[in-house]
Amino acid sequence: MGLAEITGRVRAAEAAAGRKPGEVRLIAVSKVQPADRVEAVLAEGHRLFGENYVQEAAAKWPAWKARYPGVELHMIGPLQTNKAKVAVGLFDAIHTLDRPSLAERLARLAEAQGACPDLFVQVNTGAEPQKAGILPDEADAFIASCRDMGLPVVGLMCIPPEGEDSAPHFAALRAMAARNGLKGLSMGMSSDFEAAIAHGASHVRVGSAIFGARDYAPRA
Ligand SMILES: *Cc1c(COP(=O)(O)O)cnc(C)c1O
Repeated sequence: MGLAEITGRVRAAEAAAGRKPGEVRLIAVSKVQPADRVEAVLAEGHRLFGENYVQEAAAKWPAWKARYPGVELHMIGPLQTNKAKVAVGLFDAIHTLDRPSLAERLARLAEAQGACPDLFVQVNTGAEPQKAGILPDEADAFIASCRDMGLPVVGLMCIPPEGEDSAPHFAALRAMAARNGLKGLSMGMSSDFEAAIAHGASHVRVGSAIFGARDYAPRA
């Protein structure tokens, strides 16, 4: 556990898959983690982080961005339309573009501000009713409509169903990205990032394996 070990495992998985060293970007998922754990990883020199909640990220990251030049912040949690404006100002990439209403909102914001974070379309590869994401059958049309709106779609993202082998989901996402001419593949978490790298991940999102288990209990 820890940044050095996980970075080493990412490099080893790249090599095993015949990929270039450093080709895969490691997103350290810092949601809910105590400040001292995040600061330790910043002090080790890591600069790419993922957060799930706009409010939490807005409270924590402006100060760290000022202290640690080069920080890059990616939004990996569900994005409410009414938080899109804050998110566009705070994040360098959004991995959870998952519905037409959010695409329309982001397109309006992009036009007004003349800039937009890189966008990944989240695909619900397991077609799970409770999970966010575009259904696989609808992904090609959704990607095309986002491009028509001028949105900078750079890749696809998925969260495979819990308790299932992730590999078929990673393979499906890779095929979907290839046929849509997309290079970005945001897939793989603490339990399956090596498999994701074998299947072509460009970004892996690793939280607990770097920082330790998350404690969601309210702190006193
Ligand atoms: C929390 C989260 C992660 C990190 O999960 P770990 O199992 O702690 O690595 C990755 N991706 C998404 C979308 C998450 O919400």
